Amino acid sequence: MSKIEDFLSPEEEQEIIEAIRLAEKNTSGEIRVHIEKTSNTDVFNRAMEVFHNLKMDNTKLQNGVLIYVAVDDKTFVIYGDKGINDVVSKDFWDSTKNIMQSHFKSGHFKKGLIEGILKAGEQLENYFPWQHTDVDELPNNISKG
Ligand code: CA
Ligand code: CA
Repeated sequence: MSKIEDFLSPEEEQEIIEAIRLAEKNTSGEIRVHIEKTSNTDVFNRAMEVFHNLKMDNTKLQNGVLIYVAVDDKTFVIYGDKGINDVVSKDFWDSTKNIMQSHFKSGHFKKGLIEGILKAGEQLENYFPWQHTDVDELPNNISKG
């Protein structure tokens, strides 16, 4: 893939942003997507770094979730903040990961991201239900590396 812009069309990006908005209607958790060509390093460490750079560790309940995708590496990480990791089981993200992986494998990036985002929202709802006082703490946009 030549350019990161080729990964998703502007229309597809809008659909993904809409998915984040919908997912955050179920949960106080904050979901973001970061896309870049390559992690250049251990993908998990890079996801952690991006999480911090995006100031995602500043949520009140420490319930931010980053979906990090390294396009050329064909890999992704779902990185949740401490507040989530403290209360969920180790395999909490597995079903979300599986959904995304199966779509990515068949080249359906947009669909994989959207369904992953919606699934993450459903899963988070159990632990961090949406409340009427909810604040959108992190912008629902896609960042690019
Ligand atoms: Ca929120
Ligand atoms: Ca948000």
